[in-house]
Amino acid sequence: MQIYNFGSGPGMMPPEVLQQAQQEMLSWNGSGISIMEMPFTSAEFQQIADQAKQDLRDLLMVPDNFQILFMQGGASAQFSLVPMNLLANTAKTQVDYIDSGYWSKKAIVEAKRYSTVNVVLGRKGTNDLASENINTFNPTANYCHITTNETADGTQWHQLPETGAVPLIADMSSDFLSRPIDFSKFGLIYAGAQKNIGPAGLTIVLIRDDLIREPIATTPSAFSFKVVADTNGRFNTPLTHAIYMAGLVFQYCKKMGGITAIEQLSKVKSQRLYQAIEQSDFYRCLQPANLRSRMNVCFELVDNQLTELFLTMAQEQGLINLAGHSAKGGIRASLYNAMPIAGVVALARFMSDFALEHQVVV
Ligand SMILES: *Cc1c(COP(=O)(O)O)cnc(C)c1O
Repeated sequence: MQIYNFGSGPGMMPPEVLQQAQQEMLSWNGSGISIMEMPFTSAEFQQIADQAKQDLRDLLMVPDNFQILFMQGGASAQFSLVPMNLLANTAKTQVDYIDSGYWSKKAIVEAKRYSTVNVVLGRKGTNDLASENINTFNPTANYCHITTNETADGTQWHQLPETGAVPLIADMSSDFLSRPIDFSKFGLIYAGAQKNIGPAGLTIVLIRDDLIREPIATTPSAFSFKVVADTNGRFNTPLTHAIYMAGLVFQYCKKMGGITAIEQLSKVKSQRLYQAIEQSDFYRCLQPANLRSRMNVCFELVDNQLTELFLTMAQEQGLINLAGHSAKGGIRASLYNAMPIAGVVALARFMSDFALEHQVVV
């Protein structure tokens, strides 16, 4: 049976990438050893890491004044590492955080340990960050933090706030590599790998040169952006195998036609599914149309009591990991880059069949 994994993270990986990794598992490139066994200081591994960085740079057109860091600890570690690294030796200890849901709230909790946080409410059924909240942004903030896609809530910003000279810092964990990035807006972007990139733990940080500075004194050296940048990721053993896997995914993204092709596909997939929800009285999507995520499509059954049955039957048909976030309930279909259109078509067909079968006839 064909399995389609709609899990929100760790998410689906491209089968081609897993197959290549399988082939190279025991002996990478005729070396007789696995990547996992290879010294991180070797020329071979350095080449793998450099190539991965270059491919990512090409894909997203990362400007020269941004460095790519391969870090550890997931996006949750960045919730602390961003303030620890950016707020030292400055009088500017106030920061703006746009609260758009589950993950931005978590980031705010951590940031409050290091700084004075001005919470900007970013959502109220509108996508209008620019006008509605313009007065609540602090023009003298050290930075402004945004979560571009709220994985648990099923919402995504399709426009960015105007923060002027205040650098925008983004948690892009769940929509990284799904659309182009306008780097002129950002000072720092981070993303945990397990949604659209590769194995969990690996964390990508794209940081503008001028923001690489001495962190606060209690920061572990392994978590200092400056140390990681200055040592080219060799301060301690990097996530060698995860970096290799991410590199394979970057090459796969290039083969897919790059970010514009990926974005197009992502639009088609999500539109197809939102349409299936809209066209039925059986399902409903509570997210306002202009905030709906292309990555995590959240919806519910109008008759909530059928949700468990829906999930069980979907699973029996190979449509797995469709349960909504534990704090939210309902259904969540994550449509990361590796999800083919066929998976979305299969889900839409299942939804229609299920609705027919369980529709209350009046
Ligand atoms: C998954 C996720 C996180 C948490 O990532 P970890 O690797 O578990 O720390 C943070 N932010 C967003 C937007 C996410 O989707």
